[in-house]
Amino acid sequence: MKGFEAFDEVQRLIIVGAHPDDLETICGGTVSLLTQRGVTVFSVNCTLGDIGARDGSLSRPGLAVARLDETEEAARVLGIEHTYNLGYPDGELVASLELRAQIARLYRHTGADTLWTFDPFWAGQIHPDHRAAGQAALDGQTNQPNTASILAALYPDASDFYYFVARSDGHHIFSRSYREHLATIREIRTKSSRGER
Ligand SMILES: [Zn+2]
Repeated sequence: MKGFEAFDEVQRLIIVGAHPDDLETICGGTVSLLTQRGVTVFSVNCTLGDIGARDGSLSRPGLAVARLDETEEAARVLGIEHTYNLGYPDGELVASLELRAQIARLYRHTGADTLWTFDPFWAGQIHPDHRAAGQAALDGQTNQPNTASILAALYPDASDFYYFVARSDGHHIFSRSYREHLATIREIRTKSSRGER
């Protein structure tokens, strides 16, 4: 499908939202198209979404239960593999170490290769819960070694990569020699000065 080339390599997608309805209203259609293409999608909601109902007769716990039911029903319709709710109260989310650790644990547990979340640095991101979810989701990615990295650390003799440098997208480039390493750094600096990755 035209416009979907960016997602060609996505196999396991995790989406970190703040509230039940974030995923569904912001990217539900895209998620449905991806699951139809065989992508495994996981949904994470940091808060219970337990405030903000038009029906004032619902208690906060009652509203939370309704939101959880709605999330499950939406997941069934969209073909989402599994939903997680981290149970924080709506409107009070902060990017705490605890939240970051909970999200990082889900990255490992799901084996996700791709993350979608809110951009916490976008100036228009005025909902504090959205900023906090995005910040914790981004921070939780740090130090998520892949299998090759873990094997290299366990069996250093089997690897001849001695140097690494971080790219602006969080990936690393490894080199066998210091000369190669310096050349990589120069290349990264040139690219970043042109605004490339
Ligand atoms: Zn929201």
